[in-house]
Amino acid sequence: MVAAAAPREPRARQVVAALAQVMDPEMPGVSIAALGMVHAVEVERDHVHITLLPTFVGCPALDVMRANVVSQVSRATGLVPDAIMVEYSAAVPWTSDRVAPSCHRALLSRGIAPPPPAADSIMTEMPHVACPWCGSADTVSEGVFGPTACRSLYYCRACRNPFEAMKPV
Ligand SMILES: [Zn+2]
Repeated sequence: MVAAAAPREPRARQVVAALAQVMDPEMPGVSIAALGMVHAVEVERDHVHITLLPTFVGCPALDVMRANVVSQVSRATGLVPDAIMVEYSAAVPWTSDRVAPSCHRALLSRGIAPPPPAADSIMTEMPHVACPWCGSADTVSEGVFGPTACRSLYYCRACRNPFEAMKPV
């Protein structure tokens, strides 16, 4: 790869394109870019610095995600993995409002309800979410803990399907 001769801007684009290909390990088909996790991309002459916002404190997939980002960006830019720095920052809080609308559709198609607006979630109970299968609002929370720290389980009384919902933050 002729990366050394490439101007800065194309490489930044390569990095951004590569990040759109990195899937959240816990949500297949949903990229970390669509989840609004990419906070900053700094491209220097011989290295790349990527700052990500962790979606959920304690979400156990962060190390997996970091490794995926490094390998994906390495492939896209031709940089060696050591030249790709991935950092998680809490400087700006990630909120579920950062999730792209395209991502909402991807989640729904997998039977996962996207997070409701964070403004609605200032409450102690799990918020009411519509069923991703039939759209009914007649759903009940089955408990706060889903298969991952990021999701919780619901049951739809209308179509009698269980489903998962992303927790609002
Ligand atoms: Zn339903």
